[in-house]
Amino acid sequence: MDYIIFDLEWNQPVYSGMRITSPVFLEGEVIEIGAVKTNQACDLLDTFKIMITPKYYKKMNSNVSKLTGIGNKELMKGIVFPDAFSAFMKWCGSDAVFMSWSNNDLRVLRQNLRLFHMDPDQYMKEVFDLQQFFDHQILHEGRSCGLSEALEKVGETGMEAHDALHDAINTFYVCKHLDLEEGIKTYETPIEDFDDGEPLIVYEHNYSVARDAYHDSKLRLFICPACGEKVESQPWAVYGDGKRASVAQCSCGEEYFLKLRYLNVKNGGKKAVRNVFRGGEKMNKFYENKVQKQAERHEKRRKKDERAQRRDKGEKV
Ligand SMILES: [Zn+2]
Repeated sequence: MDYIIFDLEWNQPVYSGMRITSPVFLEGEVIEIGAVKTNQACDLLDTFKIMITPKYYKKMNSNVSKLTGIGNKELMKGIVFPDAFSAFMKWCGSDAVFMSWSNNDLRVLRQNLRLFHMDPDQYMKEVFDLQQFFDHQILHEGRSCGLSEALEKVGETGMEAHDALHDAINTFYVCKHLDLEEGIKTYETPIEDFDDGEPLIVYEHNYSVARDAYHDSKLRLFICPACGEKVESQPWAVYGDGKRASVAQCSCGEEYFLKLRYLNVKNGGKKAVRNVFRGGEKMNKFYENKVQKQAERHEKRRKKDERAQRRDKGEKV
């Protein structure tokens, strides 16, 4: 089994009005793929780099150009995305485990695949975010850490940044200080991995306090788009900074994934937004994981309260 550590450079529209929003919301168009092939012992086995000529964002965005040093001329030296991506897949081999620093590259890659009518899940079912490995194993601060900061923390001197291959190699340098197997074992799939599709149902309602939204059973009900039956989701589980997620299965067999957010609106109002997405195994796993975490937190709190009560009664704890 090989580990593929990849990095992308992508171009952005010259001005935001040029952004492609349909059929895919295209944040950036991939112009370079860089990757390192490694193994469990973290040996550098091979490297890969390919340039891509964009089809939509054909002129270099000046910020991206400054950052990457890629100009309009270089842009024309690449090959089209589907060919480049299939060359990349061929190089990766059939037994590859994908890893990347942060979820940003994966998000944009998925947009690019869908843009060219390629199913992202067919090529990369799962991509591990090494930032999470790094936080769990080295940083312990519950936050994302930039690649250059990570290099510094592990005492590695990186190559010049913002070249896809250099960044992949720099990520590899950080990986030498990580237990990749352990990272995979304890990985928590981030929600961002599967909410990039359009929601099937969007529902908004005003609530003056968040609590009312979280306890309103109406928000857990929706009509199944497949068969028209009423479906009730599982209780909400907390994730991220106070967001809620849930899953549901209709009697017709369709699976759904729900997200609930409580937002402050501009003029001082507050509302809850509940979206229903297509569900599946990945979302169910995510949900179960969050429910378990929630139960662990409650149990911890209960024990703490119990200890406090006993202390109040003068018992030894
Ligand atoms: Zn149904």
